[in-house]
Amino acid sequence: MIPDFHPGVKKIMRGHTAIITGGGRGIGRAIAESLAGRGVNIAVVDVNLDIAKEAAEALGKMGVKSIALKADVSNSSDTAAIFENAVKEFGKVEILVNNAGITRDGLLLRMKEEDWDAVLNINLKGTFLCSKEAVKVMSKQRYGRIINIASVVAFMGNPGQANYSASKAGIVGLTKTVAKEYASRGITANAVAPGFITTAMTDALPENVKQEMFKAIPMGKFGTVEDVANSVVFFALPESGYITGQVIHVNGGMYM
Ligand code: NAP
Repeated sequence: MIPDFHPGVKKIMRGHTAIITGGGRGIGRAIAESLAGRGVNIAVVDVNLDIAKEAAEALGKMGVKSIALKADVSNSSDTAAIFENAVKEFGKVEILVNNAGITRDGLLLRMKEEDWDAVLNINLKGTFLCSKEAVKVMSKQRYGRIINIASVVAFMGNPGQANYSASKAGIVGLTKTVAKEYASRGITANAVAPGFITTAMTDALPENVKQEMFKAIPMGKFGTVEDVANSVVFFALPESGYITGQVIHVNGGMYM
């Protein structure tokens, strides 16, 4: 069920186009479904073309246009191709959701340089590259919504996640800078910082880590992918145009 955020909302997003990185599964897929539910056409971007295709096919059944694009967001030729293909298919791009992300956990002393690089390249550089392509298209349109998926650990830190927390804190700084640079072009840049959300990424954590996390959540439950998607939809609305450089925390009270 997709909530209506305000009874006075009139300008629905029907016919808008969204690019969602890492949209094949998990939080990205839920974001794709929530936006499609509001009539938004979707370009599902993923390194894994099979799951991107499967997601795009399911979105098509919801009555919107949808394409699957294979891309590694840390590769600048790939990110340029994403936008080229999306514009060719849809003619415009109103919404970019930088959602693709990975973890390569380990305590600082044991963390391999390659694990630092992989996480920073996909999470932070990927967000930079896609945002750079997005502002080219959105500046011409004088309209855009860039929504970056950060994390609660950007604000709290987390043992074993030096690379991941640094990448997500970097995303918050990047979001605020893009917000300031492109405010005059009608482009907003905001971030959603999820806490502990049940997905494949968190399913892979050891049981004792999950139990510790659970104890830190005042609401006494893990979040759902829909909880995150709802905040993304809020930032994507035309009505949210006076909100930029902000972070919505979706964490059950874990950090406030
Ligand atoms: P997920 O289930 O692992 O999904 C991530 C998606 O991104 C996968 O489809 C993955 O493809 C894709 N991807 C990975 N590397 C990519 C690359 N280089 N280029 C393009 N796509 C790539 O993760 P999730 O839990 O949904 O997380 C989504 C976002 O939310 C991430 O940015 C994550 O850091 C953030 N987040 C999650 C939580 C949580 O509790 N789950 C909390 C805070 C923040 P493959 O299928 O090939 O892996």
